[in-house]
Amino acid sequence: MSTIAIFGSYVLSRKDGAQDVLRDHWVLVEGKKIAAVTRDRPRADEVYDRPGRFVLPGLLNLHNHCFSEAVARSHSEDGTGRKNNQSIVYTVLLPLTKRGADILSAEERMAVARLGILQLLKGGATTVMEPFRNSIPEMFDAAEEMGIRFYGAPYLFSTSDAKAGPDGVVQYSGDDGTADMATWDALYQRWNNRGDGRISLAMSPHATDTCGPDLLKACAARARELGVPITTHMAQSRAEVETIGKRYGGRTPAQYLDWLGLLAPDLMAAHCMFSTDDDLKLMAARGMTVLNCPRVFARAGVTAAFSRFAEHGVRTVVGTDGYNMDLLGELNAASLISKITSQRADVANSPELIEANTAVAADVIKRPDLGRIEPGATADLTVVDLTHPHLQPLFDPRRALIALANRANIDQVMVDGRVLVDGGRYLGADEAAITAAGSAAIGKIWDLPEAQAAFNG
Ligand SMILES: [Zn+2]
Repeated sequence: MSTIAIFGSYVLSRKDGAQDVLRDHWVLVEGKKIAAVTRDRPRADEVYDRPGRFVLPGLLNLHNHCFSEAVARSHSEDGTGRKNNQSIVYTVLLPLTKRGADILSAEERMAVARLGILQLLKGGATTVMEPFRNSIPEMFDAAEEMGIRFYGAPYLFSTSDAKAGPDGVVQYSGDDGTADMATWDALYQRWNNRGDGRISLAMSPHATDTCGPDLLKACAARARELGVPITTHMAQSRAEVETIGKRYGGRTPAQYLDWLGLLAPDLMAAHCMFSTDDDLKLMAARGMTVLNCPRVFARAGVTAAFSRFAEHGVRTVVGTDGYNMDLLGELNAASLISKITSQRADVANSPELIEANTAVAADVIKRPDLGRIEPGATADLTVVDLTHPHLQPLFDPRRALIALANRANIDQVMVDGRVLVDGGRYLGADEAAITAAGSAAIGKIWDLPEAQAAFNG
């Protein structure tokens, strides 16, 4: 079995179930596993002996959208495309990604998928959960090809073409999600456990206002039969809260999912920032997880504070959603937005945020072998270069990581014992070629008349 030794001026290890920052240690990898964490330099086939590195467990990003991020990039800031400062999910993102997936060839969709995975890897993520339109199955091909650990979450909708009217209410077109369930099943058969086990599926009913009770119950039943996690969007806009209240007897989105049996430890719900305090108490009691993505909402002037969920006892991890896809930047935003919202400097501290996106996130997807550096754990690692001038001199590496570092400081990314990124560069293919091909494909979507109208209108 081949061995790799990586030196860390700091290694984020564990002791008695808690983080333990070691100075000047080595992480020894044998095959796909972490074999040892040692003070002395171990013998190994490959040795990375670079000073000033912070060796972390591989970071998990459990909510990301490669395709819509690229579609909206630099088009959606400063209020562009927003009517009355409302969410652009139903007016811009969903219609454009649907049209985009339809007009692009399989190779062009693959180019967009590769561009997304490249960004994620270079940003230090080793595991990603990605909800996406089921007409973009190339997400799986790109993930397998590029070596990332990937939970693909092809959407299920109760309506095939979700669109919101000027009032923000989503219109249904009458179908029932049966076709989406059949597509999900086919993708599960084809992809689950591929790539040496790195590729998995999650059940992904899109949101509370695009999925009716029958579909949500069917999703939960199928997911629990297969033992796969469930992910959705919940309480992500005021319009969604109003829609659910009108349709279902005054229920909040959290009460709606609880009524249908989905509010449970296997549920990861993105956003939830229009959940009430009573909702948060219910969510904490049910043991579900909030996927907190503060930057995509900060873009629109809305605060989604990690600390609000955490203080209510709700298990919370940070994801990047369809904006920027820079996990270190997102953790920084989670810290700052929590401090601003609570007007306290001590909330959402660095160890807490690092824990959220390592050990806690790994537990959420029932993978206690991930998110930890300890003997026997799976060898997924994120190595940060702390020698940059903005990171020296250094007193506390965890604070430096959350408060000062960014994705350009990612030095190495290892998944399943394979070095995918080294010296900040992706080793598997030509980065410039991936970027050019992905950009060209996205350009075709930007050229669509409806895209021009959406972004400029
Ligand atoms: Zn999302």
